[in-house]
Amino acid sequence: VSLIVQKFGGTSVDGPARIQAVAEHVVRTRRAGHDVVVVVSAMGKATDELIRLAHELSPLPPAREMDMLVTAGERIAMSLLCIAIDELGITAASFTGSQAGILTDSAHGRAKILEVRADRLREGLAAGQIVVVAGFQGMSLDRNITTLGRGGSDTTAVALAAALGADACEIYTDVAGVFSADPRVVPTARLLTVVSYEEMLEMAATGGRVLALRSVEFARNHNVALHVRSSFSWEPGTWVRKESAMEQAIISAVTHDTSEAKVTILSVPDRPGIAARLFRALADEGVNVDMIVQNISVGGTTDISFTMPMADLPTGLKATEAVGAEMGASGVTHDADIARISLVGAGMKTHPGIAARMFETLADSGVNIEMISTSSIRISCVVRADRVEDGVRALHSVFDLDTEPEAEPVP
Ligand code: ASP
Ligand code: MG
Repeated sequence: VSLIVQKFGGTSVDGPARIQAVAEHVVRTRRAGHDVVVVVSAMGKATDELIRLAHELSPLPPAREMDMLVTAGERIAMSLLCIAIDELGITAASFTGSQAGILTDSAHGRAKILEVRADRLREGLAAGQIVVVAGFQGMSLDRNITTLGRGGSDTTAVALAAALGADACEIYTDVAGVFSADPRVVPTARLLTVVSYEEMLEMAATGGRVLALRSVEFARNHNVALHVRSSFSWEPGTWVRKESAMEQAIISAVTHDTSEAKVTILSVPDRPGIAARLFRALADEGVNVDMIVQNISVGGTTDISFTMPMADLPTGLKATEAVGAEMGASGVTHDADIARISLVGAGMKTHPGIAARMFETLADSGVNIEMISTSSIRISCVVRADRVEDGVRALHSVFDLDTEPEAEPVP
């Protein structure tokens, strides 16, 4: 027998009809002779709703209680799913994260998994049960209930797949898989059949929201093959795994992200320690700085621009202004109307001229580039937010990512 981990996201279990469809699929997999471990998210927007309730009582609820609260969402989904599976004539048993042996550090709201002691799940499987585990949660070494961060059920699924040595980890969601661009912006975006961990990491970090970033890191570190697919069509989707050089496309996707803001600190002294001081202050405030650009100095001073999630802007701005005043900066400006376009592809490493072609394409579309950053398999440009969609469409077509108009002939 092979062991399959199947994870179902919030939209996949949103209401009794959906839960029943999931139960039928899980049972189908079981009857085909596989052992099945299921991981569920909370139903629909249940997590948001619990967070909203807490915020009606306090602007800053204690982190421990927030974790206790939001983990209830997954408990509801897991037990309802077991009830539905039971109704189909197969025994299922649900487990909270702590029962499933998911041990984490004690960082409430963003805990990291330290270890998985899955004996209880193994016993369930050995007894012929379908095992259902609450996603996104664990227990810290000091025995508090923790959560892994929003979207963390993906990470639970990958961690269980790694710990149990599963043959595949299927991530069921409300989209068909991973696309070459956001299909709402690019109607001709194509469903990718395979992407490498590295590409998926770059995509997840730059706006491709199908998988939580951490789950992809975990999958890469433990070499867990992921299959992202739809729980609405049940059709095969996208495999995320180690990719051979032969199947590599030069460019796999164009991603975009409008959720960041840019901050610039003007005319700070160009000497050692200035950037260190600024970014230490931001780090200490928990601000997630992304792109950083420092200009060459003119007359001994320099400007530094950087981006951060919009949500971090108030804190980030305050910290930057404080450091700026201390260092005699001439000012701090900010801009929330930016967006980032990224081109991702493992073949970039070996094909020169990709950056030139990207910049030419943006220029031809009249999209001005404000910042540029690169990794070995990604090029990102910050542009005006209202120009981003045109830029994405232009790049998608220039790099030949549009779906072919007709199906390829069957050999
Ligand atoms: N229910 C949690 C959330 O909404 C975890 C998840 O969906 O993966 O973030
Ligand atoms: Mg979710």
